Amino acid sequence: MAVMITDLCINCGDCAPECPVAAILEDTSDKNPHEGERFYVKPETCVECVSHADEPRCARACPTEGSIVWDMPYTTEFEEYFVTGNNNGTYKIREHKSKGIMLPSIKAQAFISDIGMDVRQAHGNVAV
Ligand code: SF4
Ligand code: SF4
Repeated sequence: MAVMITDLCINCGDCAPECPVAAILEDTSDKNPHEGERFYVKPETCVECVSHADEPRCARACPTEGSIVWDMPYTTEFEEYFVTGNNNGTYKIREHKSKGIMLPSIKAQAFISDIGMDVRQAHGNVAV
């Protein structure tokens, strides 16, 4: 990951078009594990806007404080974290036909290194 969308999301749709890597799914998508509730960031796709912008563009666009928060980096160090989240319905990580579930060990993603792990663990608000 990544950033994560919380249940404070009001489904306004302002974030998704801002994402440079199309990592955000609408509340109506059947690929969204929170379908019918809120928008969703695919952790296997989000790059925290690294190489695209100085800060997460989704959070800059979002009108609702607390609805876009930090999550753990999408790296092998957090493989088990994402496996658990995928099993309990927090995430719905894409399953590739030959590679299987696209976990960090298959493809890790970029993340902003100066965000502390304590902030990520606590799902702190992405303040921009
Ligand atoms: S942080 Fe950037 S890459 Fe990640 S979901 Fe938001 S806009 Fe997309
Ligand atoms: S911009 Fe914020 S409130 Fe609007 S859909 Fe995205 S996360 Fe939800």
